[in-house]
Amino acid sequence: MKTYENSYTNGEITVTYQPKKCIHAEKCAEGLSEVFRTTVIPWINLDAAESQKIIRQIKKCPSGALSFCKNQQKEAC
Ligand code: SF4
Repeated sequence: MKTYENSYTNGEITVTYQPKKCIHAEKCAEGLSEVFRTTVIPWINLDAAESQKIIRQIKKCPSGALSFCKNQQKEAC
């Protein structure tokens, strides 16, 4: 897994985290704790679940701090 500042990829999808938008509701950690980890750095581990499962969880983020794009559509992100 490659890790950039607030941007993570597993080869299939790229997940972006914008800390200024995060309201720390922890929906991500509660829903998919193996990917969104509160006690480990880097806190997002995209290797821990299937991309579809990660996408479903990102769509539940109440603040929009988490977003994703599919890597073959990267220019659209
Ligand atoms: S679900 Fe979104 S708002 Fe809540 S802690 Fe995760 S990133 Fe932040």
